Amino acid sequence: MKKIFTHFAVFYLAIFCTSVISAQQISDQCGFNHAIDYQNSIYSNYKQQVNALYNNLLEKANLNAEITKKGGVVYTIPVVFHVVWNSASPNQNLADSVLFEQINVLNEDFSRTNADTSNLRPAFFPIAGRPDIQFQLACKDTNGNMTNGIVRIETDSSFGGGGIPDMASIAGIQNTNQGGSDAWNTDEYLNIWIGDINSGSSPSLLGIATPPVGLPNWPSGSVPAELTDGVIIHYSAFGRNNPNTIPGIDVNGRTVTHEVGHYLGVRHTAENTFGGLLGSICGDDDGLNDTPTCDQSQQGCDLTRNSCNDTIGTIGDLPDMVENYMDYSDQTCQNSFTNGQVSIMRDVVVNHRAGLLTSPGLDCPTGIKFNDFADNFEVYPNPSNGIVNIKSYSGIKFNVTVYNSIGQTIESNLNGNQIMLPQKGVYFIKISSDKETVVKKIVNH
Ligand SMILES: [Zn+2]
Repeated sequence: MKKIFTHFAVFYLAIFCTSVISAQQISDQCGFNHAIDYQNSIYSNYKQQVNALYNNLLEKANLNAEITKKGGVVYTIPVVFHVVWNSASPNQNLADSVLFEQINVLNEDFSRTNADTSNLRPAFFPIAGRPDIQFQLACKDTNGNMTNGIVRIETDSSFGGGGIPDMASIAGIQNTNQGGSDAWNTDEYLNIWIGDINSGSSPSLLGIATPPVGLPNWPSGSVPAELTDGVIIHYSAFGRNNPNTIPGIDVNGRTVTHEVGHYLGVRHTAENTFGGLLGSICGDDDGLNDTPTCDQSQQGCDLTRNSCNDTIGTIGDLPDMVENYMDYSDQTCQNSFTNGQVSIMRDVVVNHRAGLLTSPGLDCPTGIKFNDFADNFEVYPNPSNGIVNIKSYSGIKFNVTVYNSIGQTIESNLNGNQIMLPQKGVYFIKISSDKETVVKKIVNH
């Protein structure tokens, strides 16, 4: 793996000396390799530690037969979303529904229940894996208080810039004192920051993730401009019902799937070849036996390409797997991880990010998940006898409007936790935050 990183110097040289910068910007949507390089500039042994751990993970993953289905016990990871939006651009303040939908995408992709798995070409069926990893918005914060797992910060700061990612500036989104939002305990929560990481420019960098490093996480703020462990996503590249768009890119939530893949230890299918700027490098893949080798990160969705010769178990050679989440292919082309990738991710969860599995973020009231706005609230008793209570598990601010069975407004703009219903019958209680609304039906006896 060492040779991978010697390519960086060549890469920067290439980008300055050629006229392919616009093409490069498209291929450079993921800042994973930049993040590793940047961290290494602060912690001199960082890259070495990351690679040592990766080689260890790889060895274990490859020791198992390539074509063995992994998965099994479902691991659940608590997530906190930090929505850091600029005062001048309220569209960056994504609605809860966009956040919930991203959780849904992750849960589908990491359980292989995404509808587009049916697009996977049959040749890859033997190597396609099911991670059996699930995600839910944290129910409790680091102080043990109930939460909905969403932090919203309005800021005047800007982060990053065009061209080569400015990691020191982007790291500001992870720090309250720089106009961003401080991480929750990175051992216990998957922190995902969402904001403008291209400083108002058309987004070239869509996401960044830090890899498992095999070292304790550094204390927050110990070095001002370090990247904190977690994932950072451009606000336009998030979710699949996002009203913001990116020219030329059909966003369907796979930016986050890809970056969470990195966070859980997996690498690009063609590692560090930077869209072919360095020519064909078949040996420069992710090192996994079952992930088909390809000479460069793919753009588009070319199903005819077979750039490198594979020796995958009894299968032998396979085409380039543009369906892989860890490729650079179109998001709408991606639908699968391989068994080897699954093996690495599950190994990382259990052995290197185990704090996630015992996090207070998973300590939820029975049956409650905050992946849906409606689940934030309990309206009781139902049926009622004239008095209805509304309980918000997450402490989210809300207003209440009460309608009768024919839709007439009985009460509006209530903000208390108790409602008096005037007579017997069916009522509809509308609970609204500034972003979301849910209606609950109540029968009054
Ligand atoms: Zn990547």
